[in-house]
Amino acid sequence: PATPLYADLAGDCQVSFEFFPPKTEKMEAQLWSAIETLTPLAPKFVSVTYGAGGSTRERTHNTVARIAKETPLAAAAHLTCVAASKAEIGEIADAYWEAGVRHIVALRGDPPEAGGTFEPHPDGYTGAADLVEGLMQRHPFEISVSAYPEVHPEAASAQSDLDNLKRKLDAGATRAITQFFFAPETYFRFMDKVLAAGISADIVPGIMPVGNFAATQRMAAMCNTDVPQWMGRLFEGLDDHPSARQLVSATIAAELCRKLYEGGVRDFHFYTLNRAEHSYAICHLLGLRPKVAVDA
Ligand code: FAD
Repeated sequence: PATPLYADLAGDCQVSFEFFPPKTEKMEAQLWSAIETLTPLAPKFVSVTYGAGGSTRERTHNTVARIAKETPLAAAAHLTCVAASKAEIGEIADAYWEAGVRHIVALRGDPPEAGGTFEPHPDGYTGAADLVEGLMQRHPFEISVSAYPEVHPEAASAQSDLDNLKRKLDAGATRAITQFFFAPETYFRFMDKVLAAGISADIVPGIMPVGNFAATQRMAAMCNTDVPQWMGRLFEGLDDHPSARQLVSATIAAELCRKLYEGGVRDFHFYTLNRAEHSYAICHLLGLRPKVAVDA
């Protein structure tokens, strides 16, 4: 069938938005402005990342707890096993449970220094599957985990990475959110393998609108994400044209979503980088319209 036009998209999608914990007052204001803009789209949940090496433990907690308290949104906290004992993770989990947070994005995490290798804490969890099991024993959280359509850089093979994804879901996770990718076929090929492996949980594509092409290239290289050549060509000559760059970036992400929609995808997770406009525009193109009134 022909690719549907944006005008045909019925708004029958569910979305979620990812934020990072702000460092400064200015960044805090930017985050809350983004949350205010995106709240009326009634996302299924919003999540807040956990700094590499657990460096944002307090800030992540405070941000998630404030979202849970002050907005109608379901807030999810990212949590990693880096540099923490099982007992420390248990305390963090208890604090979230007490704050009314019921959803954890459970990850192994990366070491604090870029390029380093993960060493489990002597009394800690060995990886995300192990962490999911520990969290589920502590409280009946809803748990999301990661998935890698282009294979995690440390995986021994694509099959072992898939086996690991299955272990995380079998341990109690409800869904997986993918690492960002730019070609829709990457997701569809991965889903063929996921289904063949007997995995039936939702594998939600993680959509990254490109803010800065050079930075995206660096990030993609670290996490094994292919940056197609056509993308480089599309950003060529736009260094001094920030508005045009934004439009190009939103168009690329919207086209990716439209092709995923055409292939049956109805759930999207947006890496917002604490800016609402790209995600809001893409959701609008997907047919989503404000649902909830925001309390001024
Ligand atoms: P795991 O699922 O534990 O896997 C790690 C690697 O080990 C994989 O290669 C896997 O195949 C391999 N592996 C695991 N178990 C076995 C086994 N038994 N035998 C052989 N191989 C095995 N990082 C942060 O620091 N903070 C965040 O907030 C954060 N949020 C993220 C959100 C999403 C949606 C995604 C996709 C990633 C996020 N990350 C975050 C990055 C993530 O922490 C890194 O990619 C990290 O390197 C792996 O974490 P994981 O949970 O995917 O690891």
